[in-house]
Amino acid sequence: MNDQFKYYSTNRTVPVATLPEALLQGQAGDKGLFLPENYPAISPDEIASWAGLSYPEIAGNVLRRFTSGVFEDSDLRAMCEDAYGYEVPLEQVTGRRHIMRLDQGPTASFKDFAARMMARWMGRLMESQEGELVILTATSGDTGSAVAHAYSGLDRVHVVVLFPIQEVSPRQRMQMTTIGGNVTTIGMEGQFDDCQALVKRAFSDPDLSAVRLTSANSINIGRLLPQTVYYFYAYSKLADAARREPIVFSIPSGNFGDMMGAVIARRIGLPSERLVIATNANDEVPVFLETGRYAKISPSRVCISNAMNVGHPSNLARLVDVYGGRMDETGKLCEPPDMDLMRKHLYAVSISDEETRATIRGAYEKYGIILEPHGAVGWAGLERYLEENQVPEDRLSVSLETAHPAKFPEEVEALTGVNPEPPPSLVGLEDRLEEYPVMKTDYEPLRDLLLDRYSTR
Ligand SMILES: *Cc1c(COP(=O)(O)O)cnc(C)c1O
Repeated sequence: MNDQFKYYSTNRTVPVATLPEALLQGQAGDKGLFLPENYPAISPDEIASWAGLSYPEIAGNVLRRFTSGVFEDSDLRAMCEDAYGYEVPLEQVTGRRHIMRLDQGPTASFKDFAARMMARWMGRLMESQEGELVILTATSGDTGSAVAHAYSGLDRVHVVVLFPIQEVSPRQRMQMTTIGGNVTTIGMEGQFDDCQALVKRAFSDPDLSAVRLTSANSINIGRLLPQTVYYFYAYSKLADAARREPIVFSIPSGNFGDMMGAVIARRIGLPSERLVIATNANDEVPVFLETGRYAKISPSRVCISNAMNVGHPSNLARLVDVYGGRMDETGKLCEPPDMDLMRKHLYAVSISDEETRATIRGAYEKYGIILEPHGAVGWAGLERYLEENQVPEDRLSVSLETAHPAKFPEEVEALTGVNPEPPPSLVGLEDRLEEYPVMKTDYEPLRDLLLDRYSTR
């Protein structure tokens, strides 16, 4: 076992866990979220030495810090090679401003990065464990397909995905509903928040004690660790790392798992100057940073960047914890964090749908780049930050493009006149057989389905 790092719960009423325990449990027993007790350190010189390395090599170098003692380094390296056989394009937009396209994986969103690594970790751990594992996940668009793809075909691991029928695009839906096998996708007649509430209820339901449930949403620490890697990747390719040159990342955010990857990356040595966290009209975190008061948005606001329609980000408790505060699973702020330090490290901004559309149009007209709604929120956030803070022209910055424009063809074509060419992974979806039961947002039918199919008794 890994005796270097243990993981504590943000609610702090259960004992610390090892990485395998935290991975297979998902959420801590007291409904808190796991965070590392200690952090490894990566030096600027080491990061500088990565400039010529491939993405899988950098992933191995970062992640072995967390997995040593759990997986052999050589085994981890093989998993990284296997998981990341696709490009990670860094495009210069203007001057030293770039976008990083995290959309080249098999489901064309950044969630492939974490899901593919976590599936390999869990699959390996299950080889030496008894019984079956059921991954229950709510999705507002991209988690479901990334997780379903990543776990498809694994032995003794089942995936159940709940998605809001009205909120996902046809392509997003077909990416999940055409897989089959160990993957069950359920269309819910409700909102993403309803799906997330059902998942939470199932996790704490004693009637389901005979089903071994875990989460692949970003409440699982296994999602966050792989999401530290692309920040190091971009930095080692673009920055003068030996001089510890600062970098600004802009992260389009919903549940704040992607942002937590950046926060952890910073903790272990990434010279990130300030993180721009850009939300859509669900502005509860920008308001929190400004006022110090937190209120969820319920129901969450429906925006064109649909994977970010989140009115109470599940990772906020982690962010508060990292800055010395305490937030429970209901969103109650039990102890305030160091707001000044948080504001120093983070710049949060809310971008409306109107601004998002203007950004897609403007970025194409001005720079010839095609953005989709999520990436456009990130880019608009970056521009706002640089302008409002009079950041020097030569400051290195990278905005994350988190999905492929071809996932949102109607919106993109209406704004740019370009019908984005779908990547190979999205071609031919329409011809595959879709299969999914539809449920109302009552809890009992879901419970019965889980018991029927997966109970060990
Ligand atoms: C999930 C998702 C996000 C938001 O990521 P979080 O980790 O939930 O903040 C942004 N863009 C796309 C395309 C996504 O799928």
